[in-house]
Amino acid sequence: MSDLEYASATLEEWLRNGDMHTQRMQRVYTLAKEAKEYGEVPVAASLWHQDTLVVEHANRVERDNNPLAHAELLCAQKAHNMERRYWSECTLYVTLQPCTMCSAVLQRMRLHTLCFGAFDKEVPVGKPPYPTLILGGVLEEPCAALLQEFFSGLR
Ligand SMILES: [Zn+2]
Repeated sequence: MSDLEYASATLEEWLRNGDMHTQRMQRVYTLAKEAKEYGEVPVAASLWHQDTLVVEHANRVERDNNPLAHAELLCAQKAHNMERRYWSECTLYVTLQPCTMCSAVLQRMRLHTLCFGAFDKEVPVGKPPYPTLILGGVLEEPCAALLQEFFSGLR
């Protein structure tokens, strides 16, 4: 897939399913907000197989005292209940651009689409291996504001 083809496939996906992606992001945003009450970095994720919600999770790093308990990874772990050939029909939503650890796992899963909210300026947005499409900045403002609020509260 050339860069141009990739960009137009991403745009096409957004034009076709933008409202659905925004609604699903709204749902994980609410979960992320709840996680903040537990002192977690307010990030949440959900994994959808076509129209079915497979799993949703907020970060649990603090609660589980586990540096691997990022929301996306908790969702990815649940994918083992599903046949592997279905992964390429899944979309993962996460309120913050995945870190390099999570990105590596998500790339291996070769999901259909990755949708994230706030951008993490420290992580470059790479082009994943085909067929994953990346839609960044979905509901960006509230997702970013939630993180800003959290981190300014820590100072
Ligand atoms: Zn991560």
